[in-house]
Amino acid sequence: MDPVTQPDQLRLLAVHAHPDDESSKGAATMAKYVHEGVDVLVATCTGGERGSVLNPAMDRPEVWERLPQIRSEEMAAAREILGVGQEWLGFVDSGLPEGDPLPPLPEGCFALVPTEEAAAPLVALIRRFRPQVMTTYDERGGYPHPDHIKTHEISVHAFEAAGDPDAYPELGEPWQVSKLYYNMSFTLPRTKAIHEAMLAGGLESPYTEMLEKWDPAKDISHRVTTRVPCGEWFGIRDRALIAHATQIDPTGRWFSTPMDMQQRVWPTEDFELARSLVDSTTPEDDLFAGIRSRADEEVGVR
Ligand SMILES: [Zn+2]
Repeated sequence: MDPVTQPDQLRLLAVHAHPDDESSKGAATMAKYVHEGVDVLVATCTGGERGSVLNPAMDRPEVWERLPQIRSEEMAAAREILGVGQEWLGFVDSGLPEGDPLPPLPEGCFALVPTEEAAAPLVALIRRFRPQVMTTYDERGGYPHPDHIKTHEISVHAFEAAGDPDAYPELGEPWQVSKLYYNMSFTLPRTKAIHEAMLAGGLESPYTEMLEKWDPAKDISHRVTTRVPCGEWFGIRDRALIAHATQIDPTGRWFSTPMDMQQRVWPTEDFELARSLVDSTTPEDDLFAGIRSRADEEVGVR
């Protein structure tokens, strides 16, 4: 392959709102790319300070007392398991507002920082790490947590600004990321397929109620452009997720589908290609399509 058109090192930057999001959204994809020699970095926007303890076995006073520190230790364990680098962008968790009417967001939280200011640490990170590919959430945050929506906003802003020499000139040499993806793994067809496979296998499905409430008009699966085969790395994804012990119940819904069933029924993680500055033909099965194989494509190989 032509060393001029083939970048010598592929780099992937995954932007996430809280510690644990990297292990539930696109984690097997990251593990697969790490295995292939890609340099993978997770940017975590907040410290997860306002998260709760979601695992009954960890719901103890001594855990609550030092929750931020524990979440940081859990993140360190998860990044070891995934084989990725990870950096904190340094914002404070906004919490998930609940009630009617919704209470105001807490002062100083991530979601309240103006986007231009909140994007600055990510712009600096992009210019330093120089990824060809970046992943984040869609405009609804994947689900409507204010930190997830803010993560989307700063990612799109930073994707544009990092390559612009006039934007944030004090934050380093401009670097243009080639492709921006949104995580799209929680779709109606996937949940349905797993639900039906569980019933057919004589298992109890944890998705019955979820599927009854799921408005097909809100399904995003038609936006999927890219399915990355990564079933082989689902085990690593689960181990990373379990490392976030305060956030995940190892006996809960996440782990109720047998591994071989998941690998057979839906062996991919799915993404939407939201911005691209390279030629690649969708549907794709590789986040680096058009980047790693530019030389091949020039001679007409697809
Ligand atoms: Zn989150």
